Amino acid sequence: MARVAIVTGGTRGIGEAISLALRDAGMNVAANYAGNDEKAKAFTDRTGIRAYKWDVSDFDACLSGVRQVESELGPVDVLVNNAGITRDGTMKRMTRQMWDEVIDVNLGGCFNMAKAVFQGMSERQYGRIVNIGSINGQAGQYGQVNYAAAKSGIHGFTKALAQEGARAGVTVNAIAPGYIDTEMVAAVPDDVLGKIVARIPVGRLGKAEEIARGVAFLCAEDAGFITGSTLSINGGQHMY
Ligand code: NDP
Repeated sequence: MARVAIVTGGTRGIGEAISLALRDAGMNVAANYAGNDEKAKAFTDRTGIRAYKWDVSDFDACLSGVRQVESELGPVDVLVNNAGITRDGTMKRMTRQMWDEVIDVNLGGCFNMAKAVFQGMSERQYGRIVNIGSINGQAGQYGQVNYAAAKSGIHGFTKALAQEGARAGVTVNAIAPGYIDTEMVAAVPDDVLGKIVARIPVGRLGKAEEIARGVAFLCAEDAGFITGSTLSINGGQHMY
């Protein structure tokens, strides 16, 4: 039987590439999204992968969304927490709302989704959870105290949950992408982006498929001895 995978934010950007990579690895994929129905429909028409709409920052919506996926596709074996947003601004300009939104979606979403699937995975003695962090959660970034804190939190969340899942066959890992060519990065002003690319040793932005390749690796059946790790995929921009 094909493994069932949920990819949050799985209908565009990095998430779309992850949905396709897991589908190509033989999984039955459910791609979650927040509100962009047009992009989600185009994605499903193009790929045949079903799209499911709910807000990962809403705890109850995550529980009912997972229940719906399970009733249609079967128990969830793989969860990729990829949904993310930015609300950038220096401390001077950052509002409490900008802080809350970013923490609630990027970090709260990981908790909400893991909570919805972790017990079932543990009972079935198999699970793969991959959380998408960021280079900016490892190194910090000017104007992103909210995003850097949320992404940094994801790395701690990953290591803690990995310890809880280890004996139950549930691995929990993170990927820390560097700058990847998606709509999120397209929103960065050109002059700032030019400076960023100049600091990437390989001399270019990453591709969504290059992140998806790492996710598929960590979600494979034979990746059971890899847990609690963070895989940096960043063109050499941040090494430690
Ligand atoms: P995009 O902005 O291109 O896509 C974001 C996806 O997340 C969309 O599918 C969107 O749904 C979904 N989403 C946003 N908010 C929610 C929510 N509340 N509930 C459910 N789904 C939601 O992002 P990227 O592909 O660029 O980024 C994907 C992940 O990778 C994020 O976690 C990001 O922080 C991380 N990352 C990205 C980097 C980059 O360079 N792009 C670098 C490092 C990390 P909808 O289409 O409905 O809006």
